[in-house]
Amino acid sequence: MVMKKNSLKEYAKKRHFKRTPEPRPKKEKRKIDHIFVVQKHAASHLHYDFRLEMNGVLKSWAIPKGPSTDPTDKRLAVETEDHPLDYATFEGIIPEGEYGAGSVMVWDIGHYRTIKEVPMETSWQDGHIEIVLEGKKLQGKFALIRMHGRGDKNWLFFKMKEPNSHSQPSLDDNDRSAISDRTMSEIVRDSHEQSSE
Ligand code: MN
Repeated sequence: MVMKKNSLKEYAKKRHFKRTPEPRPKKEKRKIDHIFVVQKHAASHLHYDFRLEMNGVLKSWAIPKGPSTDPTDKRLAVETEDHPLDYATFEGIIPEGEYGAGSVMVWDIGHYRTIKEVPMETSWQDGHIEIVLEGKKLQGKFALIRMHGRGDKNWLFFKMKEPNSHSQPSLDDNDRSAISDRTMSEIVRDSHEQSSE
């Protein structure tokens, strides 16, 4: 599968890389398979960004209420621009006045496996993605279903019913970074300390 050349154009257009610490898109394509990440983003409105590696970029959705492990609790996920793979481990502060200004925590990270036999790109185009998440917080089968037709940016994100889906741990118990174990306020404090050094 070939990465669409301009897939990261919108990402780059929205950002000033001299002013934000977010990663620049790189020219070379790296092969990193099937990463997923959930970034908690305290911007003007708190939300969670869900990202899945596909064809060398991170396909992205903003989930206003964040993921739920209750199969009856389907969450709105709004499709956003593709992000570069390096973004998966971005944690820190997007400066005031820049796109998405606020703080970012890597809330969960891990790998995913596809359930359906079709390529991920086909699932994405069909608006029907079923995957197994192997994260530190999110585990098991999840689905992303596009609402209405093609071109619509609203999807639903939810846990699929499984024999053990009733015994999911509460997501509120561990509101720390999956890569640095920091709380959001510790991430903010550390970023301010770094920038004043
Ligand atoms: Mn965001």
